[in-house]
Amino acid sequence: MNIANWLDEAANRWPERPALYRGATQIADYRALRKTVRELAGVLHDAYGVQPGDRVALFMYNCCEYLEWLYAIWWIGAVAVPINCKLHVVEAARIVEDAQARVLLTDNGHVFSAIELPVGCKEIAALRNLRTPLPARPVVTPKVCASDTLAWIFYTSGTTGRSKGAMLTHGNLSAMSLCYPVEIESVSGGDALLYAAPISHGAGLYNFIFIRSGAAHIVPESRAFDPSEIFSIASTLGRVSLFAAPTMVKRMSEEAIRSGYGGNGIRTIVYGGAPMYLADLRIALNAFGPRLVQIYGQGESPMTITALNREAVGNRSRPDWERVASSVGWAQSCVEVKVVDSGFEPVASGLPGEVVVRGATVMKGYWRNEVATRAALVDGWLRTGDVGYFDETGMLTLTDRSKDVIISGGSNIYPREVEEVLAAHPAVEEVAVIGEPDDEWGEIVVAIVVLRTGYEADAVALNRWFTKTMASFKKPKRYLFVAELPKNGYGKIPKTELRRLFVDTKDRGISPLVV
Ligand code: AMP
Repeated sequence: MNIANWLDEAANRWPERPALYRGATQIADYRALRKTVRELAGVLHDAYGVQPGDRVALFMYNCCEYLEWLYAIWWIGAVAVPINCKLHVVEAARIVEDAQARVLLTDNGHVFSAIELPVGCKEIAALRNLRTPLPARPVVTPKVCASDTLAWIFYTSGTTGRSKGAMLTHGNLSAMSLCYPVEIESVSGGDALLYAAPISHGAGLYNFIFIRSGAAHIVPESRAFDPSEIFSIASTLGRVSLFAAPTMVKRMSEEAIRSGYGGNGIRTIVYGGAPMYLADLRIALNAFGPRLVQIYGQGESPMTITALNREAVGNRSRPDWERVASSVGWAQSCVEVKVVDSGFEPVASGLPGEVVVRGATVMKGYWRNEVATRAALVDGWLRTGDVGYFDETGMLTLTDRSKDVIISGGSNIYPREVEEVLAAHPAVEEVAVIGEPDDEWGEIVVAIVVLRTGYEADAVALNRWFTKTMASFKKPKRYLFVAELPKNGYGKIPKTELRRLFVDTKDRGISPLVV
């Protein structure tokens, strides 16, 4: 099934339901959205010769047109390649080249003018007021596709290396979407999805179930992430849900507390994509009430590995709340999840191992990368590269990326547990932990810390705090205090960049404190 059928059916059933909003202003109902999609599908096909299976890349900040073009691409059976809009053009060009895109959509069609695009790839203006009308016949019905037809190439954020293109099929996307009502909540006409995070990632992946249910789609006018703008739109339109990385939830909580906003109009905030520290979750629950749900997924099994529902996240009166809230919850309905040892044998509950996943959402493989595909998919099981452990109820707790585990003096130390403790210190705004090679210990723990404005704390104070609840061998041996942590476009803190930052600081002769 072509996933674009869902738009076609929604437009047949609910032509007058609001479909697209720019800010709080409605710009299209379902009939109008489908009309635009049919026209743009015609443009791609007639004016640019896009054929089924051809790749069309999108490199732009969120906008209403983004959704229109995505559906136009699927409408004709082509493949969307959404690129993180925060990448440098040179990085984006590498993805365009890797995907062998035939068309590249940007705001004005001139973003790549100084860069040589692959032969045969044409950059075109996507925005309504900048695009040139071209003679084309609207394409009336979506192309018939099999469920294993490629729909979306999801370029991984590359936190541990070069970005790879996870091939997601129409079947993967519909399975992922159908999990939403089971694991999170049902969606209906009065609901709206607000794109607070880039459409090229989790926020965009959630569009399908909202299309399927004839709900509305809101792109903030700023085209960026602005908590006060989100609160204002939510208060006006109501029943707004959104996907946000934990760092975004943190900024939203701070703004909500500052302005006295209590969550009016927000139905659900789904967070995921990176660890949420308990200290930040408590603040978010204080700010928004029980409106939070967690998902754990990765581009290779999008949005769907495990989930922690609203009750589990928000019910702080449970005696085991801390344990539950620091987990990523239980396997979602469309996948099997296992924790295995290095020989791929399942480990007993309580013991850590690599998380592997099998099911309808797991990617077909990496685009033009057989070697990486063979390494990632073993007998249909996706190796996530995440380390975690189950409890006896099947609740999964992630400890870290396998590549980030620090081995110091022969002991495994998970950066996540060190971060969790330091993040709870009142003076700590943000913290990230990495391992640094060391002659004596193999590796030592290094904490890179951003202090809260107006607060002070040094390495000694932080280690005193740390050893109140954690074994001393896990305490950071070095601290580096910085003004901000590097973040990629999806709000994740790439450990590779942290290591670079740490090395650069040392190279500039500023010796990090050793305690
Ligand atoms: P991406 O493919 O960019 O979405 O990155 C996926 C990775 O983000 C996963 O393999 C995990 O390491 C991490 N991740 C995703 N969701 C969560 C979560 N809820 N808690 C902790 N880490 C997460």
